[in-house]
Amino acid sequence: MRECGLFINGEWTAASSRDTFETTNPATGEVLARCAAGNEEDVVKAADAAAKSFGDWKRFPAPKRGEIILKAASILRQQKKSLGEMVTREMGKVIAEGEGDVQEAIDFLEYIAGEGRRMLGETTTSELPNKRCMTVRQPVGIVGCITPWNFPFAVPSWKLGAALIAGNTVVFKPSSLTPLCAAALVEIFQEAGIPPGVLNMVTGSAQTVGQAIVEEERIRTLSFTGGVAAGREIYSRASKKLKRVALELGSKNPLIVMEDADIDLALEGILFGAFGTAGQRCTATSRLLVHEKVYSEIMDRLVRRTKALKVGDPLDPSVDMGPVCGPEQELKVLNYIDIGVKEGARLVCGGKKLKEGDYGKGFFIEPTLFEARHGLRITKEEIFGPVLSVIKFSSYEEAIHVANDVDYGLSSSIYTRDINKAYRAIDDLEAGITYINAPTIGAEVHLPFGGVKNTGNGAREAGTAAIAEFTEIKTVFIDYSGKLQKAQIER
Ligand code: NAD
Repeated sequence: MRECGLFINGEWTAASSRDTFETTNPATGEVLARCAAGNEEDVVKAADAAAKSFGDWKRFPAPKRGEIILKAASILRQQKKSLGEMVTREMGKVIAEGEGDVQEAIDFLEYIAGEGRRMLGETTTSELPNKRCMTVRQPVGIVGCITPWNFPFAVPSWKLGAALIAGNTVVFKPSSLTPLCAAALVEIFQEAGIPPGVLNMVTGSAQTVGQAIVEEERIRTLSFTGGVAAGREIYSRASKKLKRVALELGSKNPLIVMEDADIDLALEGILFGAFGTAGQRCTATSRLLVHEKVYSEIMDRLVRRTKALKVGDPLDPSVDMGPVCGPEQELKVLNYIDIGVKEGARLVCGGKKLKEGDYGKGFFIEPTLFEARHGLRITKEEIFGPVLSVIKFSSYEEAIHVANDVDYGLSSSIYTRDINKAYRAIDDLEAGITYINAPTIGAEVHLPFGGVKNTGNGAREAGTAAIAEFTEIKTVFIDYSGKLQKAQIER
């Protein structure tokens, strides 16, 4: 069986405690690898290595840092097929999506490598003669990157790529459900020539490794993607140490279908948005808001299409939906289905764990549709599984109210042929991302990504925002008058 160690100071090592944990395939239960379970001592070692290498890495020219990141992207590209399979085996998304996860990592690393030749600051005028004013971007130091399991290549690449190009060194803790993918990504950076100590990975539990990263004094910046409960705890602990924290958290994304929508197009978007990755995307469509005039038509067709989705082995290219990622995830989703039934939503289809034959080895749940009303728990809380709640509305204003009346705000979508309504929705929807005539999923790496309300704390990843997350701005005044000059306020 494959063994995965910690990666500290350019070397793969066992955990100081020698403890290990297993990573398994959620479709079959097969054990894929035994991984090092790090602890506080390992985080200190990783921070030592990151601190030692920071000065050299910071001084290494940014375009040269970009070359290493580009090389990593090119290795990922060469290995895309096998790495896509690894994602599918370890996380359970269907093979096309497994490869898509790797592709997103490639796209982002290629994009962010170019920042090595931009990293733009400002130059501006001065109140005084013979004086120049400007800003430059500087790395923040050691960055702690903590990631979830649902995009095991894409999300870590967004963080590592941006932190590294900006000249930071990194202590990386991936989810314990996808350590194999994380180790493969780190190996690729190693092969691409990342110097020892610049990128360190400590696998292990949230309670030991995760918390030690949050507490470690030398790690002044944290970049976290995960659930709201963990985000809140991390934010509160880190704020006591005045750390800088970027949080990308959960959501409850609405897709609105207006009465004038292209119904065929909307149906494709709904199915992809709700059941892609078995609903385990932070941008997944979990609430479908349908105008009363097209409600029956949408429901009839949606139920037929949902029942026809093929659930099974995610490595089989004809399969539409794989398992959810493990027993805890399964329990949580089934529990929410139970809550939905008990609070009076109508279970239209699905709702059960699939147990017969090979299904019994994994964590498969039927694609599930509820007819619901706004205000139920299943319409307000993040489920993170293949469960879609459908809500009927009778006016644009009502749809916007329902869409916005939740604690989250990552992605949103509206299907309409009315250009005025489309533009109004861009203004009205409380979300970091709005799609017009497209599903709630489908990020592009050169645009900022993030949400409002409990989805985060205002941070954005990807696009030009990626560099802002991992840099400090230094303001510089250069006086070439050769005499003491005083700014207006000091005169
Ligand atoms: P999670 O919060 O359970 O864990 C995420 C990571 O944080 C893991 O590595 C975990 O070990 C670690 N962790 C958990 N508690 C911690 C703590 N107290 N201190 C330090 N580390 C801690 O989330 P998950 O189940 O892995 O992922 C699913 C969640 O991630 C969903 O809520 C989803 O919406 C969210 N997500 C958000 C985005 C986004 O960009 N907004 C993207 C992907 C996933």
